[in-house]
Amino acid sequence: MTSQPGAVPDSANPDVVLVGGGIMSATLAALLGVVAPHWNVTVFESAGDVAGESSQAWNNAGTGHSALCELNYTPAGPGGTVDPTKAVTINEQFQVSRQFWSHLVRAGLTGAPKEFITPVPHISFVTGTDGRAYMRARHTALAAQPLFDGLEYSDDPAELAEWIPLMMAGRDPSQVVAATRSAAGTDVNFGALTRMLLEDAEERGVAVHVNQRVHGLARETDGRWKVDVRDTLTGERRTVRARFVFVGAGGGALPLLQKAGIPEIAGFGGFPVSGKFLRTRSPELVSGHQAKVYGQAAVGAPPMSVPHLDLRLIDGDHSLMFGPYAGFSPKFLKAGSMFDLPRSVKPNNLGSMLGVARTEMALTRYLINELMQSGADRHQTLRHFVPQADEHDWEMITAGQRVQVIKRDPATGRGVLQFGTELVVGGDGTVAGLLGASPGASTAVSAMLTLLERCFPERMPTWRPRLQEAIPSYGRSLADDPALLAEVRASTMQTLELNG
Ligand SMILES: Cc1cc2nc3c(=O)[nH]c(=O)nc-3n(C[C@H](O)[C@H](O)[C@H](O)COP(=O)(O)OP(=O)(O)OC[C@H]3O[C@@H](n4cnc5c(N)ncnc54)[C@H](O)[C@@H]3O)c2cc1C
Repeated sequence: MTSQPGAVPDSANPDVVLVGGGIMSATLAALLGVVAPHWNVTVFESAGDVAGESSQAWNNAGTGHSALCELNYTPAGPGGTVDPTKAVTINEQFQVSRQFWSHLVRAGLTGAPKEFITPVPHISFVTGTDGRAYMRARHTALAAQPLFDGLEYSDDPAELAEWIPLMMAGRDPSQVVAATRSAAGTDVNFGALTRMLLEDAEERGVAVHVNQRVHGLARETDGRWKVDVRDTLTGERRTVRARFVFVGAGGGALPLLQKAGIPEIAGFGGFPVSGKFLRTRSPELVSGHQAKVYGQAAVGAPPMSVPHLDLRLIDGDHSLMFGPYAGFSPKFLKAGSMFDLPRSVKPNNLGSMLGVARTEMALTRYLINELMQSGADRHQTLRHFVPQADEHDWEMITAGQRVQVIKRDPATGRGVLQFGTELVVGGDGTVAGLLGASPGASTAVSAMLTLLERCFPERMPTWRPRLQEAIPSYGRSLADDPALLAEVRASTMQTLELNG
């Protein structure tokens, strides 16, 4: 990646500027390579390297989110029923990512698929009779869906001891337990994938500049965006003008969209929560846990607090990660500033922010509880998952910053906290940015396809066939087309080497 001072000529007027070198910008660069290969695209990354924030492997949990194990996508409904709709949508979006990654691998993406995606069973685990009743209902609802084919259910402790030996060893034999397991799960190294996508983009002529912080965005009278960039090593400033700007700056997106002055950002705020995990590299522990296991969040706690114990496969190393535990820092990026949160409060979002402070007691309670926890309390939480855990085997690591989206509810006018991602489009489709964290990197391809549709509607008739060639299910529903699903599943399994 280019990092020499003066590498960006003042006169450069790219068609597209992508702010930030994370998975979102990298994915958009790859999609533009498919639909508009002749466009002149420039990426500005403020850090010394790409993929250093949320997309970095240790800064997220690496779960290929497809609702196979995450119980927050299948909340219990009235009468104990479970509605599979949200889970189907998330799974479908992950299939879109798999197809696009397969397309890129077939087209010669640098490196082997194993460097960024590995098959790891996805398991949901609950305790107690209510948990078991919910798990049965969830299994019934999902097993009827073609996308969840092969989902197994068990409440037999002996069978669960085979699925998750580490979690069952030393567990009270009288405890009621229940789980589902899917062999279709994955662990994804989004950092490695981001690098591969950007290296590939560079080979196609995309300019990727590191140590270049975008600090200003303003619309010019000719409709172009003036992008002010500062070299973080030399302090040198320069300006480029672009027809389209994507603010893929992760936690840095809100302040930049506010600077762009687009009316669409009014009312939006952000609340940063840092993620922490316990990690072990003990080969003995790792060999007893060859899965990603998601449990249930405490009643009233936000979805990001769902506890999970994950097998991670990063750069050839095997380890386990348990968490997340929450921490508080006013920074919007790990490498951000202590003033990020206070500076983001504007007259147009003050109401939303104060509204959330008043109404989101569950988040407040959760954060206070988390911040009050001692090391011993944290290991006690781990012991719900690994009854025989020894704290000396585990170290605490700090993962990425999540900036939860706060937005004004148009119906009530009050601020609401949102746990998903939000694509904000302004300037008649000439600028866009992505806020929020979940389901995040796994659904980057769907998020960036939505961006193309919203920002370039007039080009879609030409672009659609190219996208359909790369992503056979684009514009169709795999849930409603079992034949296409079977085809897509088989071909992505083979191309991404997911057969084990
Ligand atoms: C604790 C945690 C666990 C997670 N677990 C999962 C998971 O299991 N599965 C999953 O799919 N997703 C997960 N996510 C979400 C996922 O990591 C994010 O959604 C995704 O990485 C966001 O990618 P991005 O490109 O938008 O942002 P980032 O990866 O944060 O990239 C933004 C980039 O922009 C740069 N930047 C910022 N400001 C500027 C500026 N002004 N000028 C130039 N560059 C700038 C930053 O340095 C950074 O490199 C998790 C997130 C967290 C925090």
